[in-house]
Amino acid sequence: MGGVIGVYNSPNAAVLTQIGLFSVQHRGQESCGIASYDEKEKTFNLRRGSGLVISGLGAAALAELKGSCAIGHVRYPTSGAKSGLQDAQPFIFNTAQGDIAIALSGNIINGAALVKQIRRRGGILQHSSETELIIHLLAQENKPLEPALKDALARVEGGFGAVILSGGRLIAARDRHGIRPLVLGRLADGGYIISSETSAVEVMGGSYVRDIKPAEMLVIENGRLKSSFYAKPGKMQNCIFEQVYLSRPDSVIRGQSVANARMEMGKRLARQMKDIKADIVIPVPDSGIFAAMGFAEEAKIPFEIGLVRNHYLGRSFIKSAQSVRETAVKLKLLPIDDIINGKNIVLVDDSLVRGTTSRRLIKILREHGARKVHFAVTSPPIIAPCFYGINTPSGKELIACTHTREQIKKALGADSVYFLTAAHAQEACGGREGAQGFCSSCFTGKYIYKISKRG
Ligand code: 5GP
Ligand code: MG
Repeated sequence: MGGVIGVYNSPNAAVLTQIGLFSVQHRGQESCGIASYDEKEKTFNLRRGSGLVISGLGAAALAELKGSCAIGHVRYPTSGAKSGLQDAQPFIFNTAQGDIAIALSGNIINGAALVKQIRRRGGILQHSSETELIIHLLAQENKPLEPALKDALARVEGGFGAVILSGGRLIAARDRHGIRPLVLGRLADGGYIISSETSAVEVMGGSYVRDIKPAEMLVIENGRLKSSFYAKPGKMQNCIFEQVYLSRPDSVIRGQSVANARMEMGKRLARQMKDIKADIVIPVPDSGIFAAMGFAEEAKIPFEIGLVRNHYLGRSFIKSAQSVRETAVKLKLLPIDDIINGKNIVLVDDSLVRGTTSRRLIKILREHGARKVHFAVTSPPIIAPCFYGINTPSGKELIACTHTREQIKKALGADSVYFLTAAHAQEACGGREGAQGFCSSCFTGKYIYKISKRG
């Protein structure tokens, strides 16, 4: 996934970009970076760091990042499996069309084919991230920047939101199905913001204008917006996992807050489970909180915080080794005996991926005296990996891919297991646009594009 921020025409663009990056930090904690364009010196400045924005981009880095336009990125490693600074974005390239900085969140899925084509023409690739492919394709075009970029984007398949800086010109581009989110905001004094989520726009002091459209290339230059399409827009297919898990609850998607979408998912699951008897509903914090609130309200069962989260650890999912992940869950979620002991519990989580978190939690709840644990997942079973920017693992690691519902119940040690139906998930997340136009490949195994691996 990852997150991107772009700032156009603000006196200290890098500082504002950093504020934006804090607001999309949940989208990636592996590395961070900002590139700014210094119009006085006519040069780009670039600073990148590992880990969180708070440690990777300090005051010293920001002081170097002069200029009124900037782009920034937080990275969550997806297909370019290597991590580390080498692949921290933004990237800057010197091309016939001038110096160009780029940052992209999401994933390009026809990377393998593109790599072959680029190499055949003498291209030398430096990163394991697919983001650089766009610039290579562009650089091989014998055209000015904007038409060259259009041609390059037209050859790319996948789910992405990209920000590009070329001199004092800021460009935003979104994949042709709108799989990954990307929004436009306005600053009070003629500046603009591009962001992966609306939450950042607000914090940066801007106001939300609109979403970048599928297949749109938006150029911001000389204080004006110029919108065009690099390809024929495809059918809208927003990633439904944005509302399930990825986006921040205060972000707005399809005119609806993500918090509200989650509460609606919880309510609908409570209706599906209307015969369930329990004393309390407890969420798996933080991601399950709104869903559990909706569930409790609809089921008229008291909502209790029976597990508290230690916020000083990274996300357990990010730790790559299974053994580390087990310990991480134990460290991260702490049971409250007085609340749990002797109770029949509905445990609510937003999604079931490997089953590691939930298995541990159900065990912990039982060790602390829970009588019954009904596990309520407010999204459909994830049966297939995502190729559009979410790091859901291969099929064999996905518990719902290898197990039937009965086997999942046993494997997790729950008294019962429930999933929200896909139809209910889409209704809950539909917002202004209604219950269609989603990418839900992870729930169906049906993909928008044919999938090939990068060579
Ligand atoms: P499991 O119990 O299957 O091991 O993990 C499910 C938990 O992982 C849920 O609480 C959900 O919020 C979280 N989760 C789902 N997708 C992702 C992801 O892409 N990254 C991270 N860090 N956590 C995820
Ligand atoms: Mg979670």
